[in-house]
Amino acid sequence: MAIGGVGYRLGLDDTDAPAGLCTTWLGAVLAERLEARGHRVFERRLVRLNPNAPFRTRGNAAVALLCDGDPAAAFTLACSLVEEYAPLDAPMTNPGVVVAERPLSPAFYTRAVTDLCTVDEALRELGAAGARYRGYGNGRGLIGATAAAAAEFPDRTYELLVYREPSRWGTPREVDAASLFAAEAATAPHTWDSVDPGNRAVVCVPHTPDPVLFGIRGESPAWVRRARELVVSERAALEACWVTNQGTDAHLVPGTCGLLREGRSYAVAGTVVNVPSTGEGGHVTLLIQDGECELRCMAYEPTKGFRGVIRALRPGDRVVACGSYRQGSLNLEKLRVVSVAEAVVLRPPLCPSCGRRTTSAGAGKGFKCRRCRARAPAAERVVEERSIAPGWYEVPPVARRHLARPLCRGPPAFGPDGGG
Ligand code: ZN
Repeated sequence: MAIGGVGYRLGLDDTDAPAGLCTTWLGAVLAERLEARGHRVFERRLVRLNPNAPFRTRGNAAVALLCDGDPAAAFTLACSLVEEYAPLDAPMTNPGVVVAERPLSPAFYTRAVTDLCTVDEALRELGAAGARYRGYGNGRGLIGATAAAAAEFPDRTYELLVYREPSRWGTPREVDAASLFAAEAATAPHTWDSVDPGNRAVVCVPHTPDPVLFGIRGESPAWVRRARELVVSERAALEACWVTNQGTDAHLVPGTCGLLREGRSYAVAGTVVNVPSTGEGGHVTLLIQDGECELRCMAYEPTKGFRGVIRALRPGDRVVACGSYRQGSLNLEKLRVVSVAEAVVLRPPLCPSCGRRTTSAGAGKGFKCRRCRARAPAAERVVEERSIAPGWYEVPPVARRHLARPLCRGPPAFGPDGGG
């Protein structure tokens, strides 16, 4: 019953605990209780924020509910729910509740997903909009709650989250893996990341003790529902279809070699400097260059087959590297090969008189035939056949971050050198 109701946005963050619960579950329960009290909830938003933020909760997720109703009653209800369920004595759990009737600045959300915000900045934002808010513990949850309530999504996807019976929380989940593979096969590319066919892995069933049974990600509510109907599992207690910034690359900003800041995520254009190397643990290092500046890019072992793409790069290839900049390295999420260089390998030439392969006669001394002693001055240039073509490449679903846009949604576009 929205008659006489006031439009408001309710933001909620950081109700997670190491031993269970999650902010989306509390948001889904809150939405049901609001509807039961006559509020109209016309959108549930799952808002991922900067995955590199220190003190972040797992996945750094906040939620927002876009509603009509009595904002004061909604605020009271949200606070009582947080106090009922969130482990307020856990030092890492610092919930935030925001109810705003007037718009908050979308720029605050943009900063919270691409950079870092402080509690003080959130408080200023809330004060300027005259919003109701409550921060528990150190108040850190107000950052995500404010960002979620402020969010505008230029691009959006959907996730249908299915929650477990509370009596089953912490026990092994019963979700039929074959049905997940079948659901993905029937709905891809309109849904993604339920499973990773290439690595024969289930991706959408968490292993943590939280209330989520599984989640289906996709491009529309209809597609995620269609996939969900094909999944065979234990009985669900609650389901919610969230509008989300997952799979949109909202965390990426254009970056330039030498000007990257710790904890932000970038798309950086450059030229491959040398043949990529594989180090201990199977991690692959790629060095790219833009002018005088070099940037180390990493494809870590968990990115599996993506490392083969990186290993196939050669000096002179032009690329756009995308990922988070941490401790001096760009941790690759996806990469565009803009152009492929001619890869030339030099080797000793054939002997001009007897046709056998010569050997080096020493540095700068040309080549010499061991059998007939003939000399050959110049090395033979062999053009290596390249196994990689221009285009976009990405890590597999098992290694994908929540915010990273999967290529099944179409190629991303980053700046003048990064597009298509
Ligand atoms: Zn010879």
